Amino acid sequence: MNEKVICPDCKNEIVLAEEVMVGDIVECGECGTEIEILSLNPVKFCELVEEK
Ligand SMILES: [Zn+2]
Repeated sequence: MNEKVICPDCKNEIVLAEEVMVGDIVECGECGTEIEILSLNPVKFCELVEEK
């Protein structure tokens, strides 16, 4: 079963790949926001803020 997270930016539902691991970076398909997976059970993540 694939876990899902809600994008902190646009509230889009991001489906995590089956093989996703702690520390992986997942990108929101809608707005491009990147999140880092902190834990999987339960799923916790943090938003990566890109420095400009
Ligand atoms: Zn998004």
